[in-house]
Amino acid sequence: MTEDQVRAALVNASPDERERLSVPLAVVLADWDHLDFVAWPDPETRGRGYVIVEREGVPTGVVLRAASGGPSRAALCNICHTMQPGNQVALFTARRAGAAGERGDSVGTYMCADLGCHENVRLAAPLAPSEMRASVDRRIDGTRHRVEAFVESVVA
Ligand SMILES: [Zn+2]
Repeated sequence: MTEDQVRAALVNASPDERERLSVPLAVVLADWDHLDFVAWPDPETRGRGYVIVEREGVPTGVVLRAASGGPSRAALCNICHTMQPGNQVALFTARRAGAAGERGDSVGTYMCADLGCHENVRLAAPLAPSEMRASVDRRIDGTRHRVEAFVESVVA
């Protein structure tokens, strides 16, 4: 994906956000054949992040904002279902696309503060034993479905 394609994919970005978006090289170089989704924190604006999924073959992304001050205790990331210490999980909200967003509607969910769910679900995976493989695959599938559902709730 080129930077312009990333910009165009963001369904809930304001013109200003689109313009100031900085796309890390890793996102431009992302190999979509091996990725379920990409998510990254904005390197310049603290508390802002982005997630992009393929939706019916079309890259669809949303701008996220982290609420300041995470939960005081450990909490579950709603995307990858990893239990995280309070400082590594954050409530992210996304303004809904279109008219709903203009009315101020938003959706929110707890996510890993570094938006590293794609990696975290794999890191948490136990090594090898083949009987465990199925449950790991289910977690990875579940993570993808939850990201898709979240993006869907922003679009719809
Ligand atoms: Zn997570």
